[in-house]
Amino acid sequence: MNIKIKRDKEFVDYEVSKGLTLLKALYKIKSDIDNSLGFKAGCRSGICGVCAVRVNEKEVLACSYKPKDDDEVTPLRYHSVIKDLIVDKSKSKETLKNSLAWLHQYIKTDITIEEEKKTELQSDCILCSSCYSACPVFEINKDFLGPFALTRVYRYTADKREGDIKSTIDTIQSNGVWDCTLCGECTTVCPQGIDPKMDITLLRGVSSQFGYSDPNFVAMSFGF
Ligand code: SF4
Ligand code: SF4
Repeated sequence: MNIKIKRDKEFVDYEVSKGLTLLKALYKIKSDIDNSLGFKAGCRSGICGVCAVRVNEKEVLACSYKPKDDDEVTPLRYHSVIKDLIVDKSKSKETLKNSLAWLHQYIKTDITIEEEKKTELQSDCILCSSCYSACPVFEINKDFLGPFALTRVYRYTADKREGDIKSTIDTIQSNGVWDCTLCGECTTVCPQGIDPKMDITLLRGVSSQFGYSDPNFVAMSFGF
């Protein structure tokens, strides 16, 4: 079986055995064919998110994906490529800092198991950056806060220990909730089953409670 891997500017063909995960195939290529192949991996069991790449223009974790004949493997989009499939994720991680996605004003209170469950899924993000790479908004707006940061914002605005939701909601009005097209690509590729599109929709609702509305809708309605 043949797979194509983007190396520098060109695809290079490699013969690999059927039935291996993509990560195992990459290790095999490195040990038996070309020791210079660049890729990154951590836990090898879908937990750390380090091995995220694109296959046929869709984001996958290499350790969980089984390649098919003629698959095209490329690095994540919108990240600087360090070597072959290795990218620098510092830019995407910056979105967490820019979106103030943490508790700001801690209120000491008891949390029930039911309340904790409400944001359990959002807390499962492994920062693989797959959703960031899948999001079409970054093609036109590199300052967009992006799906996983907004999911984390939702996780903290929904936490009853947060005493200052407004500061965070103020922060996500620009390059944030209203810039999302609700296309759902982030949700489709998330290996953890997180739904950033839904979290962004919920954040729009919370924003409305603080007096914000969709600036695009206002511009369309009144022809500004
Ligand atoms: S739903 Fe929004 S955040 Fe998710 S990929 Fe689409 S535009 Fe990006
Ligand atoms: S939300 Fe999902 S796809 Fe996005 S970084 Fe977290 S785990 Fe990865």
